[in-house]
Amino acid sequence: MCGIVGYIGDEEATPVLINALKKLEYRGYDSAGIAVIGDGKLSVRKAKGAIKFLEQRIATEIIRGSVGIGHTRWATHGEPSDVNSHPHTDVAGKIAVVHNGIIENHAKLRAFLESHGVAFRSQTDTEVVAHLIDFHYNGDLLQAVLETLKRIEGSYALSVVCESSPDRIVAVRKDAPLVIGVGKGENLIASDVPPLLEYTRDVYYPNDLEVAVVYRDRVEFYDADGDPIEKTTTHVEWDISAAEKGGYEHFMLKEIHEQPKALADTLRARIKTYATKSINLEEIGFDASWAEANRVVITACGTAWHAGVVGKYAFERFARIPVDVDIASEYRYRNPIFDPKDIFIIISQSGETADTLAAMRMARSGGARIIAITNAVGSTLAREADLVMYTWAGPEIAVASTKAFTTQLMCVYLIALQFGALRGTISSEDLARHIDELEALPAQAEKILAEKETIQRFAARNFNKSKAFFMGRLFDYAISLESALKLKEISYTHSEAFAAGELKHGPIALVDETTLIVAICTQRELFDKMDSNIKEVKARGATVLVITYEGETHFDKTADEIFRIPAAPDALTPMLSVIPSQLYAYYCSVLRGLDPDKPRNLAKSVTVE
Ligand code: GLU
Repeated sequence: MCGIVGYIGDEEATPVLINALKKLEYRGYDSAGIAVIGDGKLSVRKAKGAIKFLEQRIATEIIRGSVGIGHTRWATHGEPSDVNSHPHTDVAGKIAVVHNGIIENHAKLRAFLESHGVAFRSQTDTEVVAHLIDFHYNGDLLQAVLETLKRIEGSYALSVVCESSPDRIVAVRKDAPLVIGVGKGENLIASDVPPLLEYTRDVYYPNDLEVAVVYRDRVEFYDADGDPIEKTTTHVEWDISAAEKGGYEHFMLKEIHEQPKALADTLRARIKTYATKSINLEEIGFDASWAEANRVVITACGTAWHAGVVGKYAFERFARIPVDVDIASEYRYRNPIFDPKDIFIIISQSGETADTLAAMRMARSGGARIIAITNAVGSTLAREADLVMYTWAGPEIAVASTKAFTTQLMCVYLIALQFGALRGTISSEDLARHIDELEALPAQAEKILAEKETIQRFAARNFNKSKAFFMGRLFDYAISLESALKLKEISYTHSEAFAAGELKHGPIALVDETTLIVAICTQRELFDKMDSNIKEVKARGATVLVITYEGETHFDKTADEIFRIPAAPDALTPMLSVIPSQLYAYYCSVLRGLDPDKPRNLAKSVTVE
């Protein structure tokens, strides 16, 4: 995820592009760059880090011209660096491209272009697009882009300028946002509405694969075959602050809603679809040797540790391998026993969590091999691990993690399933079926989000409860841990989680009529056990919300309320069952008059002990 912008008009493009990029910095901020055409020449300036570093460069290396494109990056392929920053250009430096998204078949295209003598400069997936456009360029930029679209797979919003056609910008999207603003004698392109509002409120929203050719005084649209199409503008009524959050009241709610896409992005590029479906982790270096481990050790902190707890159940289920899951701050100060055949999975959204890094370095000194799961390309964790699997969630602004968590789960499942496939503990038919089930999750998550008012109403009735306990068994226990954390983080409600079987070993002493119990019930074989637990807390006066599947009648008589999620296999449910809890925490926070994006005493990335 990143921000792309474009300007064509009578003004100097550079200040407009910089101004627009600043309004998109929340979408990505590891590097930035612009390309401007002036006096018949294309010039590019880029810089690693926040936009201010690009501004410093431009202050001395001035570029003039009234057509240009810009980018603020959140790296997915290739660490943040000057050279990996966008725009990327063809070999001659005459065509420049900015890209938001992932080109999934970039490795194949790179090999193809290299075989035609193209020398690549960056490690990005994006650079193939610039070279492909050049490869197909015959004097007609639109035609070259259309040809390129036939060859690239993945998700993208692209803006392209070409020195020989300085009167236009070509822009197109597929599964990534793109808006075109229509001004007076000038037109603008952006990933999102906020940068446009200073210039215009009349915008086009192109659909997937509708190609826009943006001139100073008009915008033309073409379908994927190059046939012209008619589109109408929409008048935007939002204010700037709402627009930054995509129309949502808070970043957290926006990020909760981004989960279907984030899950799909994280999954899609890792699936091979020819013949029987299988998982492709070779690109990150995960080969059969990794599956020879005797044990998997997962270490992490906070929400990422909860992803690890889910991971333990998933690895045992699919790969039949012993798993230890450890809180990094505990692990580092224990005297853990290493085996050089251990594999460590280290999970951190930021890749900079101090305790997690310390645990990783201990494991490394014990001779173990390390897989990192992180959302930050080029982070310390990513650099020091043997192998990295990125969550492609895009930047997460709200302090409380939501989409980073569910995409961590997706990565954990992919590794567990691939472990199982390589160790022969799941058949190729079962693997293909599980992949189908994973592919169904984004649409199922969407269905949960469509029912969010049900959770909002429930929150309106219960947000003042002084205690909230989450309970479940197996995967539901892991999700109870995450649910309780979310609620305490942003609503300051005293919330705890326990394995439902532990109820009688202590927690029940706290249950009375002021208690809310959320019983997560997705493990079908244990429904009767959960039903007994629910009866026990009901008998002490608690209010009980059950989260279970659509069509499931097991809890109809015991629960006070039931929230239903789409029926999914028990082992894969965590990516769905956590969503109602995220929404519950969010609504409780808002109802208590708090700011869910900035909870007190908490920081997004815990880089100190
Ligand atoms: N995949 C591209 C890169 O890593 C674009 C990432 C983005 O959307 O910022 O450069």
